Amino acid sequence: MIGKGGVVARGNGRAYGDSAIGAAATLDMRRLNRMLSFDAQTGCLVAEAGVILGDVIATFLPRGWFPWVTPGTKFVTLGGAIAADIHGKNHHRDGSFGNFVEWIDVMGADGEITRASREENADLFAWSVGGMGLTGVILRACIRLRPVESGWIAQQTVAAPNLAEAMDVFESANDATYSVAWVDCIASGAALGRSLVMTGEHVGAEELPHAYRSHPFRTPRKRNLSVPFNAPTGILNRFSVRAFNAFYWRRAQRASRETLVDWDSYFYPLDAVLGWNRIYGRRGFLQFQCVLPLESSKAGLAALLSETAASGQGSFLTVLKRFGQQNGRFSFPMPGYTLALDFPVSARTFSLLDRLDAITLDHGGRFYLAKDARLTATTLRQADPRADAFCTMRQESDLDQAFASAQSERLLL
Ligand SMILES: Cc1cc2nc3c(=O)[nH]c(=O)nc-3n(C[C@H](O)[C@H](O)[C@H](O)COP(=O)(O)OP(=O)(O)OC[C@H]3O[C@@H](n4cnc5c(N)ncnc54)[C@H](O)[C@@H]3O)c2cc1C
Repeated sequence: MIGKGGVVARGNGRAYGDSAIGAAATLDMRRLNRMLSFDAQTGCLVAEAGVILGDVIATFLPRGWFPWVTPGTKFVTLGGAIAADIHGKNHHRDGSFGNFVEWIDVMGADGEITRASREENADLFAWSVGGMGLTGVILRACIRLRPVESGWIAQQTVAAPNLAEAMDVFESANDATYSVAWVDCIASGAALGRSLVMTGEHVGAEELPHAYRSHPFRTPRKRNLSVPFNAPTGILNRFSVRAFNAFYWRRAQRASRETLVDWDSYFYPLDAVLGWNRIYGRRGFLQFQCVLPLESSKAGLAALLSETAASGQGSFLTVLKRFGQQNGRFSFPMPGYTLALDFPVSARTFSLLDRLDAITLDHGGRFYLAKDARLTATTLRQADPRADAFCTMRQESDLDQAFASAQSERLLL
């Protein structure tokens, strides 16, 4: 298939747009799902690229290991996590997934398999981490896990009445292992950017309440909810989003500020609502995610949130995170703040998203390809000069002849 051109690997399809849809054909990697070896001294796991992160957790958390970096869903494959160089709530401290990848085996345009690491075939490694599947097919990887003493997280919630205070909380929580904020994107005026900033720490075995100490890795049983049908179009409108946001804000303010949360509820709240995307109705939804450099974050975030609030097209889930240093050659993060918003699809959504793109460009920000479904090649290049270098590298090594996704064709990568 690779010889015929226009192929891309697909993990578990958790990217929001068309990055895992091959221009001509798509390679389903989910059957390459064996864990091959584990070194209990170093925490290094060798596994095939189609292994799902949730299966890594199910296997290794009971032995005291957890992924160093995890996104907001455990249903991603290792290949997808590496190709998008995903980030978690600890980017400000630990960076992205690629920081914990020791090596990868990549099948190239000629069908040859090359081992790449920071020392060996370093260019291939650097472009593949965050390369969105466009440098070849990742077949196997060695990733490092983090030792933990329990499956519990101590969460602190701070209610910040506006954006400036939310950012102050993030800056003063720079030492926290995890931090993330839910933003009320409907609030405006003096309350613009009011947020609940949540920090988190892995809990040591000795710090657990007595009842949990004998089984520190046991996950409480939960009933998964599922959304049985697509919600009628229009159910998510400015009134329902406003009511939800106001309710969530008031409830969280009343709630206890320090809580013990199990790993599954802490990292993966959406996974507990199976088919949650159906809430957006048949037309589905689009996610917008950008990162702004630190120096322009305050002004840029205020502009993005003002534009969203003024549009009346509130987002149910608006998430703010602080990013730290980033080494990846084409990876998304940069030191600053990242904002993600979900919008049900409508004709008006596209024009709002164009305005949010323009604000991002004005503030020197860039966009997350794993969330993109509609950027233009011009906007991408205005935001990210690295796109041209990526493109040149692909042309010079004939990768562009073999690997292409619907997204890479749209963005002229
Ligand atoms: C609810 C939810 C929450 C999320 N939260 C976050 C978050 O907090 N942080 C974050 O960074 N992301 C987040 N994401 C996005 C998600 O982590 C990424 O899109 C991830 O890449 C999806 O992995 P996947 O295995 O499903 O890959 P896919 O969606 O199938 O593919 C994504 C990309 O990886 C490439 N790829 C997949 N497998 C391989 C392979 N074996 N070799 C080469 N290339 C490959 C594909 O070609 C494509 O370009 C979230 C997604 C959801 C649905």
